[in-house]
Amino acid sequence: MDHKSFSTQFLDRVSLKRSDKIWLKAQFSNQSTRIIPVWNLKSFCMPAPDQRPIFLTPSDLDNYRKAFESSILLGVSNKRTYFAVDIDSEKFASTLCNQKNGELLDLRHVVSVLNYQQGALMTLAQFMINWNSNNRFCGKCGYPTVSSEAGNVCICQNSQCKQSHFPSMDPAIIVLVSSGEYCLLGSQKPWPKGMYSTIAGFVEPGENIEDAVIREVAEETGIKVKEIAYQSSQPWLFPSSLMLGFTATARSNKIRIAKNELEDARWFSREEIKDNLNQGLMRLPSKVSIAYHLIKTWYDKGDVGKLNPT
Ligand SMILES: [Zn+2]
Repeated sequence: MDHKSFSTQFLDRVSLKRSDKIWLKAQFSNQSTRIIPVWNLKSFCMPAPDQRPIFLTPSDLDNYRKAFESSILLGVSNKRTYFAVDIDSEKFASTLCNQKNGELLDLRHVVSVLNYQQGALMTLAQFMINWNSNNRFCGKCGYPTVSSEAGNVCICQNSQCKQSHFPSMDPAIIVLVSSGEYCLLGSQKPWPKGMYSTIAGFVEPGENIEDAVIREVAEETGIKVKEIAYQSSQPWLFPSSLMLGFTATARSNKIRIAKNELEDARWFSREEIKDNLNQGLMRLPSKVSIAYHLIKTWYDKGDVGKLNPT
């Protein structure tokens, strides 16, 4: 996977088909269709070391009567239609595992071994199921909603309200700050020991994303930045972020750590990163993350070789 992991650009979202019940029904009974099952926000995968995701065919769900009505249309790719289905029966989830020799895993623990399209489909399926589950009641009036447009809209059933709720992602910035031959990396308390990453945070209402970069870096580390340049983005649906990746140059070097946000923040040279990684003293984010991509892009411009931690 590269940093574009989890982007579903290969998938035609066929939004105009979402309300076409006849087309949906035909797709859901077509054996070329693939269905991504999720139980209790866990994904069905082959056991380690394989960990391939288990995609079902419609006939695998013949004995699960809610399959079609609870299905969420994800899209079409290479003439194959993809749906997600929330398996709400522990017994049936267990039956599926036995039939497929699979097991239920936390998707975050297996994404790094999935190929690009598998990772994108699995995270989208989990996001949409989670989103539907969180929107069963109207946030405006509190009435129950009904899932519509093949699981892509939740509509309030209160005739006085009828509010439509749509899935969305939360914009967050992530930035590689450099100063000469050094880059700024931080570590958060819940992370594994020695894990360092780029500075990141959510965009506040009313803020543009460049302002969010300036504010987040200053809040978390006390560093002022300039030359803010957009690099690339990545959907990070754990649970619902859209990561907007930047580089920036420091205008000051003295770090003042916000202890409620970060456990540590430091300037690292490429040599330090290389030595720390070699000695097992440091860990970087997953190779599928935009954070890793930002660090690698900066690191590889130096003269100590390419970044390739094991
Ligand atoms: Zn309502």
